[in-house]
Amino acid sequence: MKIGVLALQGAVAEHIKMIEAAGAEGVPVKKTSQLAELDGIIIPGGESTTIGKLMRDYGFIEEVRSFSKQGKPIFGTCAGLIVLADEIVGQEQAHLQLMDMKVQRNAFGRQRESFETELTVKGVDDKVRAVFIRAPLIREIGDRVDVLSEHNGEIVAARQDHLLAVSFHPELTDDYRMHQYFIDMVKEAKSSSVQ
Ligand code: GLN
Repeated sequence: MKIGVLALQGAVAEHIKMIEAAGAEGVPVKKTSQLAELDGIIIPGGESTTIGKLMRDYGFIEEVRSFSKQGKPIFGTCAGLIVLADEIVGQEQAHLQLMDMKVQRNAFGRQRESFETELTVKGVDDKVRAVFIRAPLIREIGDRVDVLSEHNGEIVAARQDHLLAVSFHPELTDDYRMHQYFIDMVKEAKSSSVQ
């Protein structure tokens, strides 16, 4: 099973390490032509405006949308969550617009720009270690979106069918269970597409 990590900007190597720790093959993705060989893709943290712009410049917006249409799973972490959202608070243009949710960038304010905590995540046994860095929050969700985790009553992880989004950086700890969760989604998608 091959999982790509979009490698235009942001935390790529750490994700690849986690994918491999969870037992799949991880590949950095720089060209749209690589998408065809992937079973799933991670959009990493970084700076969402930059990632979104580079995705547009390199033709990734349309190609990742059609990747999603094929039912192939996508996992957005931090800036990647913002890139997946239908709407961004205070911004006219969103990026991929694949997930029915409205997100707010840098939602924790200056006092809590970065912190580490443990979260209860639906579908994952025991608490997950999570690093938040200038993190976004999910402010509104549509009916199709399932909340997987909250922190102080705010949504920090959600799933819509084959799309997964978390506010934090699961790749900056030694806990690879969020990656395991995603890889299980990829396995499921793969087995249901091979009839
Ligand atoms: N603050 C960043 C943004 O708005 C996201 C931060 C991150 O990915 N760690 O794009």
